[in-house]
Amino acid sequence: MSVETQKETLGFQTEVKQLLHLMIHSLYSNKEIFLRELISNASDAVDKLRFEALAKPELLEGGAELKIRVSFDKDANTVTLEDNGIGMNREDVITHLGTIAKSGTADFMKNLTGDQKKDSHLIGQFGVGFYSAFIVADKVDVFSRRAGAPISEGVHWSSKGEGDFEVATLDKAERGTRIVLHLKKGEEEFADGWRLRNIIKKYSDHIALPIELPKQVEAAEGEEKPVEEWETVNRASALWTRPRTEIKDEEYQEFYKHIAHDFENPLAWSHNKVEGKLEYNSLLYVPARAPFDLYQREAPRGLKLYVQRVFVMDQAESFLPLYLRFIKGVVDSNDLSLNVSREILQKDPIIDSMKSALTKRVLDMLEKLAKNEPEQYKGFWKNFGQVMKEGPAEDFANKEKIAGLLRFASTSDDSGEQSVSLADYLARAKEGQDKIYFLTGESYAQVKNSPHLEVFRKKGIEVLLLTDRIDEWLMSYLSEFDGKQFVDVARGDLDLGKLDSEEDKKAQEEVAKEKEGLVERLKAALGESVSEVRVSHRLTDSPAILAIGEQDLGLQMRQILEASGQKVPDSKPIFEFNPAHPLIEKLDNEQSEDRFADFSHILFDQAALAAGDSLKDPAAYVRRLNKLLVELSA
Ligand code: ADP
Ligand code: MG
Repeated sequence: MSVETQKETLGFQTEVKQLLHLMIHSLYSNKEIFLRELISNASDAVDKLRFEALAKPELLEGGAELKIRVSFDKDANTVTLEDNGIGMNREDVITHLGTIAKSGTADFMKNLTGDQKKDSHLIGQFGVGFYSAFIVADKVDVFSRRAGAPISEGVHWSSKGEGDFEVATLDKAERGTRIVLHLKKGEEEFADGWRLRNIIKKYSDHIALPIELPKQVEAAEGEEKPVEEWETVNRASALWTRPRTEIKDEEYQEFYKHIAHDFENPLAWSHNKVEGKLEYNSLLYVPARAPFDLYQREAPRGLKLYVQRVFVMDQAESFLPLYLRFIKGVVDSNDLSLNVSREILQKDPIIDSMKSALTKRVLDMLEKLAKNEPEQYKGFWKNFGQVMKEGPAEDFANKEKIAGLLRFASTSDDSGEQSVSLADYLARAKEGQDKIYFLTGESYAQVKNSPHLEVFRKKGIEVLLLTDRIDEWLMSYLSEFDGKQFVDVARGDLDLGKLDSEEDKKAQEEVAKEKEGLVERLKAALGESVSEVRVSHRLTDSPAILAIGEQDLGLQMRQILEASGQKVPDSKPIFEFNPAHPLIEKLDNEQSEDRFADFSHILFDQAALAAGDSLKDPAAYVRRLNKLLVELSA
């Protein structure tokens, strides 16, 4: 080995130290995955080399077969991995093996609880990667040289996985990376051919390039040492090119972990070969858990793109819409050019048609999951439901399909869980019901007791309860499902259509006539606070309610706009009163106009409170109420 120069000791980034600590302490029950992670990296490194060599063939340096070699030394208690991929230079090593580049990492680390069980789940979401080497090793040496760099620009990285690492420059004849794991005491089992072979078969069979182990050979006569021979232990063909029927579930699952850098099995996958005008293979996965950065704008997303089996880029985001950003997978096209760029992808009409086909595949896969594995789908909805709700606005063409995948809380189920599909809802609809009724609000607790639901309770009509921040916005994009219109029960003049009998309607008209005088008095008393006053047919227990005008913004949207500092158009509610309520009867009989006005304002404010709104002048409300209380007790 040549002399090392430019030796320096550098500290790990804080997040790396945290990750290392966590990994060593929470993944000991699943130690063997370190090999999968290192092989996954070696495979990525070879993919990158192949791609860069398309433009610069000299990077292949004469062109030995691309492969990964895993060897061991029982005496020294070491395991060594070697690849002839892209390699790293000094700078690469310092950033890739000393920091974590993912955005949002610091925030993620803040979520760690110190509870090892919980944290090991979190770490799974985060991805374990290179640092998993320290689960089994108490010292790791990395020797690497970047493809195309001179032999003298090799680099040696070394660390005990504590606070710091060393880097030095040295000669390295072969391109690529060699990693030497100095196994901890007690981890000797990994310095063994059978053990390594089994781990590779179990986790890395799908890796598309050969993974070799040394072959046991006897020394020839007269020779002291046997000649070195190697044998390939994995299948070494691209998984997605193989026929579906030949691929086992475990293989699909391990392949997922490799490409998604995930730790857990996926919920579902869809593997397809498309032939005809366009030719491509796709293998798409639904993860079991949301990544920690699902809501970060800059978070990487998209599929791994191959062109004719050659890796071209990670995170090709043009193949799926934004609301499906959680989908992981591979697409391998025969139509694109090998030097396709992100910019070209954005404009290429081929991509548009692939995008709509892949989108449909994902939606079909989710439909299937919902139908065949409702429990799994529940988990999916918990993790990704909020993102799916972005769908109808973004993907007009698939609106109906997406709507079918949505799940809602509803008056039919006291758990408050989002578990009712629109199909469930319609299957339970009352005879003559041709609308889908819903109510939006701030929380389940608040909407579930809303006075707006009174008439629906009385008539036994189900109402969907929507309390996610995005819901009102979502509903502004959904106008109907299966030919049935959506109706916001807090909006406009509630018309129950056929659900009200002719007699009901007649009775309503009569009451309205009877109360014309009261309506006029209320209008005068409430003045500018309301856009209209009318007799309500939706109340059984409450005295009054505020309805939103047909075209006005709802409470949720108003609050979102206000919070983001935007100007919210002024709108006034409609005041509806329950003519049969004793308070309203009392009001009707009130002789003093002064007291009538106070009383009306109190009812108005109460209706606002019941709807989850805040009062414009809470002090006035309290003053009026107290005045009334004093008079009462006098
Ligand atoms: P990830 O694979 O998710 O990027 P890792 O922690 O596994 O994260 O690896 C960190 C980075 O280190 C890789 O992205 C890559 O840039 C670099 N790296 C690791 N192993 C190798 C290797 N064998 N050859 C070249 N680069 C590597
Ligand atoms: Mg990795």
